[in-house]
Amino acid sequence: MRTLNLDMKNPGLKEEIEKDGGYITGCIQCGACMSICPVAISGFEFPNKRLFKLIILELEKEVLEHRSPWICISCQRCVHVCPRNVNPHSIYFALRRYQSKQFKHPRIFEDIVRSIYQYGYVIEPENSKRRELNLPEIKLDEEELDEIRMLMEDSRLRILGII
Ligand code: SF4
Ligand code: SF4
Repeated sequence: MRTLNLDMKNPGLKEEIEKDGGYITGCIQCGACMSICPVAISGFEFPNKRLFKLIILELEKEVLEHRSPWICISCQRCVHVCPRNVNPHSIYFALRRYQSKQFKHPRIFEDIVRSIYQYGYVIEPENSKRRELNLPEIKLDEEELDEIRMLMEDSRLRILGII
């Protein structure tokens, strides 16, 4: 069993997550949100309640290591079952932002961002394969692509060296 080092707290972590994602202190660890979550039901590791406990305990290192916020599919089913009016979906998105700010997001998201910048799509359209299969090429209109690039260049992505 993994033990938690309660000396590794970051006082203020819970408050910061709550400021962005809403109330979490009242989570009673009932697990109702997990029981309805399609991602958890499909067998992915999705330890909402454990993660929420870590936030309440302000164990930053553990919170930053968690990948589960990134596999939430935003169905919002969890939002309707919590008996304590916690919004797990909103907490997950606050956690994504918190991890990203500290460069702790999964690296695959940087590849996705680069692909959007270059092609306008989440993954590079494989046009040579499509031609072989007699399928029409996928190509974004240059004007639309320029607009996407302009918006991205206007963000912090350039400063951070991602694009
Ligand atoms: S919004 Fe996310 S955490 Fe909530 S039930 Fe859907 S997939 Fe699960
Ligand atoms: S349903 Fe609400 S109270 Fe229960 S574990 Fe999930 S967030 Fe906590």
